[in-house]
Amino acid sequence: MTADTATQKSFDIVIIGAGPAGSSAAYTALKKGLSVAIIDKQSFPRDKLCGALFSGRSKQYYTEIFERDLDPEFFGPKTEIEFWMNGQKLSAMDDVPPLYVTMRWDLDHICLKHAIEAGAVDMTGQAVAAIDENESAVEMRDGRRIGYKILIGADGVNSMVARTLYGRAFDHERIGFALEVELDGNHLCPDDPVRIDFAAAKWGYGWWFPKSKTTTVGVGGIHAANPNMKTAMAGYLKTLGVDPDIKKYKGHFLPFGDVRKWPGRGNILLAGDAAGLVDPITGEGIAFAMQSGRFAAEAAFEAMQPGISGEPVHIYRRKLREIHRSLNIARIIRPILSRPSGEKAFEYMFTHSVTLKRQYMELLGGELEYPTILKRVVRKMPQYVMVMLRQKMGKTPPAPA
Ligand SMILES: Cc1cc2nc3c(=O)[nH]c(=O)nc-3n(C[C@H](O)[C@H](O)[C@H](O)COP(=O)(O)OP(=O)(O)OC[C@H]3O[C@@H](n4cnc5c(N)ncnc54)[C@H](O)[C@@H]3O)c2cc1C
Repeated sequence: MTADTATQKSFDIVIIGAGPAGSSAAYTALKKGLSVAIIDKQSFPRDKLCGALFSGRSKQYYTEIFERDLDPEFFGPKTEIEFWMNGQKLSAMDDVPPLYVTMRWDLDHICLKHAIEAGAVDMTGQAVAAIDENESAVEMRDGRRIGYKILIGADGVNSMVARTLYGRAFDHERIGFALEVELDGNHLCPDDPVRIDFAAAKWGYGWWFPKSKTTTVGVGGIHAANPNMKTAMAGYLKTLGVDPDIKKYKGHFLPFGDVRKWPGRGNILLAGDAAGLVDPITGEGIAFAMQSGRFAAEAAFEAMQPGISGEPVHIYRRKLREIHRSLNIARIIRPILSRPSGEKAFEYMFTHSVTLKRQYMELLGGELEYPTILKRVVRKMPQYVMVMLRQKMGKTPPAPA
């Protein structure tokens, strides 16, 4: 249904942002019988700067939320991955649980279509001017007002909903930033492995994702630690044998360890990047965007049931607890991988430890969570420290398990 045909001016749920978080929220709410309008300032299909590596975790959430399998036309499986650091190949794995590569042009359009087919009122291509918290209404640029019982802000890292609630969309000290280019011509190599380059940017990494029509290449890390990300990107492209001036790079913030403690206020909930839900180690955000969208819709539904007291944001925050815990632990672990003093030891451990590589893949597959990893890291800490000390003394460290 389009907004022009809709006579309704008020909905159970109004969602701002039709990325993976918004469409997941819409679909979930509709399945629960709620009325939903989904607004986006862009018309779809549209591009969004993103590597669009779709992990096993993303596949699991997508399948559960949208009640269907991935369409193979839009999701290319990858079973080979290479890990590099400072121009050296640390390891190659050819039997990893499938990862998928896609394009956000396709992914976001597909998810939005699922939501519209399920009954969402399509208000894409229309911009929001302001939110009237007192009257629970969204004011559109064209002057219309759309009422809501619950508003879900799924409007990305520069979220206007978060700005309305907190005065700013993110913390400049903690936010991540990434640059990316899409390569074609001689650089098309659809059957090549996915490649991750640790330390291609400070407190971050580089990626090379070969797809059927493009190869997506980028670097990302903490913004404050990388005041000149363009230099890091040029260096990375040179390492890959690509002319650094081949194309203009595009940039985008990503909430890479900037988890919002309170994902909203009252009857306004924030989901996906707007709530800071990007893994600070892997940079993965699509999976948590979908899952938080689903949780926001479920929380909204529960809050509307008779006899339920308490604000929707409290119900939602409880549902997010495991994700919050995981991402906060990842923030604690990240310095071990990212501090220059620990880099060499990490390089050594990652090259020699089969367990560490397997755990990284299990993490992407959604089979392992950070609380378990933290326990293992603590157990391995003495070995890690010993590797660091022996390297400092110029001695060969013992082989890790
Ligand atoms: C360079 C880069 C590479 C990445 N690579 C990966 C990767 O390979 N795998 C992975 O899992 N994650 C990756 N991420 C993270 C991932 O892109 C995000 O976590 C994910 O897009 C979050 O989805 P979302 O639905 O919350 O927000 P978004 O996808 O950003 O969608 C937000 C939507 O809100 C709309 N909007 C914004 N403001 C308004 C407004 N005022 N009114 C109406 N609409 C509005 C926008 O138009 C947009 O459509 C990457 C991020 C970056 C920057």
